[in-house]
Amino acid sequence: MEKARRLIIAGNWKMNKTVAEALDLVNGLKRELANVKEVDILVCPPFTALCEVSKAILDSNIKLGAQNMNENNVGAFTGEIAAVMLKEFSVRYVILGHSERRQYQKETDELISRKALAAHNAALKPIVCVGETLNEREGGLTEKVLDRQVHGSLAGLTPEQMEETIIAYEPVWAIGTGRNATAEQAQQAHTFIRSVLAKIFGENVAKKVRIQYGGSVKPSNARELMSQPDVDGALVGGASLEVRSFADIIKNSI
Ligand code: PEP
Repeated sequence: MEKARRLIIAGNWKMNKTVAEALDLVNGLKRELANVKEVDILVCPPFTALCEVSKAILDSNIKLGAQNMNENNVGAFTGEIAAVMLKEFSVRYVILGHSERRQYQKETDELISRKALAAHNAALKPIVCVGETLNEREGGLTEKVLDRQVHGSLAGLTPEQMEETIIAYEPVWAIGTGRNATAEQAQQAHTFIRSVLAKIFGENVAKKVRIQYGGSVKPSNARELMSQPDVDGALVGGASLEVRSFADIIKNSI
């Protein structure tokens, strides 16, 4: 299918996979996906597997992302990881503001925007996550929440930085629940997000930004979701942990 923007499909492995398991998975993906040229394929292992996965994908079409980073460059931040440390393993993307971090680590839009700036300063492409909870959707607040998150999490980025930023629309009620947004709901939210980007950064920038959908993406729903005009890829959690399901999501999206 002809898309306005190149699809980017990312696997968020979350806190799963030892190094040995990570290598099994990524080697399987390399075999399955060697001929795929139409999609940017990305895996985001836990920090502890970045080094080995980075070596394993050197000669492949799979790119590497991290799941988080600190907003500072260096210093007394026990347990934290800086962008420059990710760059040592050829990490090119970093997921920021995932709803699990917003919920458990109390990450705010303001913090996420500082991380996004720090990522760009290190030439990492941020994948900035936004999305409403079930209560917010049922209360008719979806657009209000998305507007606030897009404004807040991307505050201070230049238009040039925005073009190199990816947004992941992940309705919280769809993450890990098996209940995905319908293609219409995803398209509607993505159109809205793009309209907010146009107001902040201009029409031309908004047209170029890739917006992924995330939330219970599986091989069976990937085609319909990815065929929506404003859905430019997927951020996949559970189904990215097995070679078969992640490879099928990618193949079904082409
Ligand atoms: C995610 O956590 O980014 C996600 C989309 O998870 P799942 O695919 O399991 O819903």
